[in-house]
Amino acid sequence: MSRRFTAAVVGGGPAGLAAALALGATGAHVVLAAPPHRAAGQAPDNRTAALFAGSIEFLKNLGVWDLIAPHSAPITAIRIIDDTGALLRAPEVTFTAAEIGLDVFGWNVPNNALVAGLTAGASKPDSGVTLQSTRGIAQVEIGSDAATLTSQEGDRFEAQLVAGADGRNSLCRTAAGIATRTWSYPQAAIATSFRHSRPHGSVSTEFHRPAGPFTTVPLPDLSSSLVWVERPEEAQRLAALDEAAFRTAVEIRLQGLLGALGEIAPRAVFPLSGLTAERFGGNRVALVGEAGHVIPPIGAQGLNLGIRDAAALADCMAEALAAGRDPGGSAALDAYSARRRSDVTSRITTIDVLNRSLISDFVPVHLARGMGLVALRTFGPLRRLAIREGLQPSQSLPSLLKPDGAALLAERSQRPPRHSAA
Ligand SMILES: Cc1cc2nc3c(=O)[nH]c(=O)nc-3n(C[C@H](O)[C@H](O)[C@H](O)COP(=O)(O)OP(=O)(O)OC[C@H]3O[C@@H](n4cnc5c(N)ncnc54)[C@H](O)[C@@H]3O)c2cc1C
Repeated sequence: MSRRFTAAVVGGGPAGLAAALALGATGAHVVLAAPPHRAAGQAPDNRTAALFAGSIEFLKNLGVWDLIAPHSAPITAIRIIDDTGALLRAPEVTFTAAEIGLDVFGWNVPNNALVAGLTAGASKPDSGVTLQSTRGIAQVEIGSDAATLTSQEGDRFEAQLVAGADGRNSLCRTAAGIATRTWSYPQAAIATSFRHSRPHGSVSTEFHRPAGPFTTVPLPDLSSSLVWVERPEEAQRLAALDEAAFRTAVEIRLQGLLGALGEIAPRAVFPLSGLTAERFGGNRVALVGEAGHVIPPIGAQGLNLGIRDAAALADCMAEALAAGRDPGGSAALDAYSARRRSDVTSRITTIDVLNRSLISDFVPVHLARGMGLVALRTFGPLRRLAIREGLQPSQSLPSLLKPDGAALLAERSQRPPRHSAA
């Protein structure tokens, strides 16, 4: 016999956990079907994510930020250094949070700490989330008033809405018949973190190099994470160096910025690619996180988008519940898709143009990028607009990204709040 829920979330990555908690906060009964965190045989995720102020507000609204903050570090400034070796070198540009009236742009959060904190939140009895540990969902059948999910172990449950947060090869997306557009870049990113002797001063530094950016992001104390984009074969070669040789290679690229380097964490290589779903919801399935969009790790947008997906889906659920409508029906899913379209499309386009301007050999493209940086350096209003838009869209923020978002969401779904801000 199958159990019935308002919503089933498939996938326990950061976006799936965020969606489960956000949907639980509307009062819906939610099941999260996912392999346990750090299941045997799974490689540890050594990435970090720079999460902007709205995403941090989301974590506060769901009562989990206090668990995650001790492992994270604030980012108060972002510095861009042109290291392309182009004929006309663009000026160094530093954006500070203070110039748009913020204390911090956001925080750099280790993925492992984020997943552990969100899992702890979803495990609380008042979260509204039932954790269904499984090796994976094997089948999603779309019905007229509910979808039926079958796990690899043979457990079955029904849900009016399926939040497909099952990553870039999403089974839920296929089951809903949602097509995608995919593309790749001649680049791969090495992700790691390291200790260093000089303080980072809470500044993230992006060296724009001919094969892509080389970016350090602050972590607690004297440590930083690194995302180093190179041609794929060069990325593999560098990642395979022994620790001492890799340390020297990083020190050379850093040009002394963080002093002498100490211990380096394990490295992982991620080929750079892009994906966007033709719509973000349909046939009882809403796509959340990388199931709906994959974006290169440039400008720290991927998971911030995934968190905004989760928050927007919670608003759609709250509105459907308050109106007595089917939360997995076409009206609710069309609304979700429409709310996510411009945010996702604009980020994908901007990051694509920025990335291609770096790797292009065409001199006028370098000139245009350099002039863009000059304009950002000298023209205050443009600078502030660029910073604000880089952090999150200025229009129609979902409830959970706003201060006191849990109460706003409860008001939308016309029920008392389940969580209070941390
Ligand atoms: C090097 C690097 C640096 C990055 N830095 C940033 C950054 O600074 N800021 C930022 O915002 N983003 C960043 N990102 C992007 C961010 O890491 C991703 O957006 C995020 O990890 C995606 O999370 P997700 O939950 O959507 O997908 P995933 O983490 O892929 O999770 C999907 C989950 O679904 C599960 N799953 C799959 N199929 C099934 C099934 N059938 N049944 C059940 N479960 C299933 C998988 O096991 C997995 O746990 C970075 C990415 C990279 C590569």
